[in-house]
Formats: sequence, structure tokens, C-alpha cells
Amino acid sequence: MADKKLVEEITSRDVDFTQWYTDVVRKAELMEYSSIKGFMIYKPNGYAIWENIQKELDARFKETGVQNVYMPMLIPESLLDKEKDHVEGFAPEVAWVTQGGLNELPERLCVRPTSETLFCDLYKNIVQSHRDLPKLYNQWCSVVRWEKTTRPFLRSSEFLWQEGHTVHATAEEAEERTIQMLNLYADFCENVLAIPMVKGRKTDKEKFAGAVATYTIEALMHDGKALQSGTSHNFGDGFAKAFGVQYTDKENKLTPVHQTSWGVSTRLIGALIMVHGDDSGLVLPPRIAPVQVTIVPIQQHKDGVLDQAYALRDTLKQAGFSVTVDDSDKRPGWKFAEEEMRGVPLRIEVGPKDIENGQCVLVRRDNREKVIAKIDEVVAKVGETLENEQNDMLARAKEHLNSHIYDAHNYEEFKEIVENKPGFIRGMWCGDVACENKIKEDTTATSRCMPFEQEKISDVCVCCGKPAKKLVFWGKAY
Ligand SMILES: [Zn+2]
Repeated sequence: MADKKLVEEITSRDVDFTQWYTDVVRKAELMEYSSIKGFMIYKPNGYAIWENIQKELDARFKETGVQNVYMPMLIPESLLDKEKDHVEGFAPEVAWVTQGGLNELPERLCVRPTSETLFCDLYKNIVQSHRDLPKLYNQWCSVVRWEKTTRPFLRSSEFLWQEGHTVHATAEEAEERTIQMLNLYADFCENVLAIPMVKGRKTDKEKFAGAVATYTIEALMHDGKALQSGTSHNFGDGFAKAFGVQYTDKENKLTPVHQTSWGVSTRLIGALIMVHGDDSGLVLPPRIAPVQVTIVPIQQHKDGVLDQAYALRDTLKQAGFSVTVDDSDKRPGWKFAEEEMRGVPLRIEVGPKDIENGQCVLVRRDNREKVIAKIDEVVAKVGETLENEQNDMLARAKEHLNSHIYDAHNYEEFKEIVENKPGFIRGMWCGDVACENKIKEDTTATSRCMPFEQEKISDVCVCCGKPAKKLVFWGKAY
């Protein structure tokens, strides 16, 4: 049984989701506010999750031929100005450096909000021939976007991310890479983070500044709000033309390259919290949890108990699990509550009676199910239990997603659903931005994506009643 006192300090998820979220990020010690508004400190528990996300994704990127680079954090204003849509899109949230040492700079430098312009400037110099293509670069870094309202992991003025930037000889190759990376993200989210995604294309209103097409993965949080969790952009040759990135093709003709960019950020930590967390705190899927197993010795002052706990730890470590022993002098109930707050997927309890019986007790974090394991079978049992937990978490998240998708056939229905049923709304759309604007103004819901799996659920636009062109997922979003 978890210690009540610690648990009582967090607000119930269904009473006040926003407050619950804030409580969990603080009590699980994921982050701390810094002295600059909107800039956050990643504490060890939070940063370790990011490190695991990085490790997993980085390996997957490299399998597709991507190489890592590191670009400067400052961008000269003249460089940013070269692509008109891009600079307009980012201007409202750019931070500027105007002084170097004691002197005013001749040209303002912006702190990168994203690095397309820098990559273009690099590719312009290193791409000459079709033999130089493709270039598949990625960087892990932080970017700065001066946000008015901020929330830990979801929206902060500085955040950690990766940005991949590739250049290709043909439009087909660029489109293929754009979709490949979106699928890679969706697969990672589903199989590692246990978060199912809706995949689709953004409308022109919602696409990235300067892109021809933006593709997105959208997740549904426990409260029924959507979270854009990753995007992949096809830039066509627009940036290439603005920056003069061109190559001589096989016929010796100068041709602009085709370009993509794609990224995910520490928002994924926010998604993990809001999809899986419960009233006792964080619940981490075993494949991403920095600590997979915590061993809690019961009556640890008694002979042999701590020894057994350490022996278990060593056995499990050797088998490749990430394990800790909580041998502090806190009461077991308090230890349980702490480890539950941090979302550790599995607890192992071992006390004098268990030792007598040659066993230990495994307790799953997600459903608190108890499994008795013989000491000599503990490796197999832990592996099996973590695997079941991972699969059950994904199944539950899928069930939550599927049971919160509603169809609207006309505007009355649409407004009724937005008002009363948090989740995704499927509704047909005529393709006119005026309808997107009206829906946003009337209901605060936005178009999340035009899903890859298109269907015709009605002939007319859910907003204006004119002939419909696309099925759109709508929803309130973070
Ligand atoms: Zn319409």
C-alpha cells in the first residue's frame, strides 16, 4: 500500500488535469523552474528520460543513413531574412543578440528558433554535384522561441530537440524521406513510448513556415486534448532557390536541391506524463524508463534481507535490466509511494518470509498486479512482467484513443461534441481556410491533420456545408 501522505499532495487527475500535471512534474522531480520565466531546468529524473529517447531515436536515425552534426546557435539576421515565409513565421518569437562583449554588433544575431537557414548556408557550400547527394544530417540541440505562456515540457522558451535536415536530387526522394521519418517517429512512439499516433498531413494554415507540406503525428492525452508530437516537412526546392543550394545533375545542368526537415522534442516527455500518468504520479513504459525495477527490502534490518536485495539487483543488472535498491531508512510505504510517483515500472519486495520461501514479490506500476517469482526464475519473470506491462500500456492507450474519436456530420453536431466530448472529431472539410478560422474562433478546436487513411463520412464540409474535399481530425490541442 502506498503511503497516503505523499500521494495526497498531488491533485486528482480527473478533478483538475492541469494542476495534476504540474504536481506530477514537480513531485516526480522531473524539472525545476529557473530564474528566467519560461526557461526550465531538467532534473536527473527528467533528463534521464530524454537521454533514453535520444539513445533510441539516434540509433534508428543512423540505421537510415543519417549522420549527426552540430551547428552554431546564432544566426545572422541577413541569413534568416532570405526565406520570406520562414522569417515571417518565426519573427514574433525570436530572441536577439545585439551586443558582443562591450560593443554593439554590426548585425543582430538571432538565437536559433530552428536551423533551416544555417543548414542551407552549409549545403550551399558543400553540395556541388549530384555525387554529393543526398546529405542526411541531424543535430541534437536546444532552440529558443520566446513564448508568452509556458508549461513544463509542453511549451517553454528554450527546449531540447533534434532537427534533421536533408537535401536530395529529386522531389520524389525528398517526399520519400519526409514520410520515412514520420513513420519512424510514429513507430518509435508506439513501440517504445506506448503512445499510438494519428498520422496525417497538416492543412496549409497549420503547416511549417516555408514548407510545401508538413506531416504530423498527433497523440491524444488523457484529458482528451491533442498533442502534436512530431513533424516532418517537405520543403520542395523553395529554400534551395532562396539560398542558392544547387548541384550539377548528370546532364551537367544546374538544379536546385529538394529538401526536408523533421523534429521531435522534449514535448514527448509531456506526452508520456499525460497519456500514462495516474493519481499516484508518473507511469513509465518499461522500454523508456531510466529505472525499470526498484527493489524494496522489507524489514531490512533483519539478517540476510539486504544481502538478498543486493544479490537480486546484481542478477537483474547482469541480465540487462536497469535496477536500483532503495536501502534508505525510510518506511517501506513511503518508498513505495516515491517509486510510484517516479513511474518506475516494477517494484520487487523481498523480506524475511520471502527469503524463507525462496521467492520475491513483483508489483507492476501500471495496474499494481502482484506476481510471485521464485528467486531462481526472477530474470525470466521480470522480463515477462515488463513485457506484459509495456503491451498492456499500449493497449490501454489505443483503447483510450479509439474510444475518444467522434464523427460530426454538420456544424451543430460538431459544436455539441467539442462542448461535451473531449477527444478527436472527424469532420469533412471543404479546403477553405475560412472554415478552419471559424471553427477555431467558435470552438477553439483546430485542424490537427488530414489523416493518411482518408474516408468520406459525409459529402459536405462540417462547417460551411459546401462540397467536402478532405476528412480532417479536429480537436483542442496543447
Ligand atoms: Zn467549409
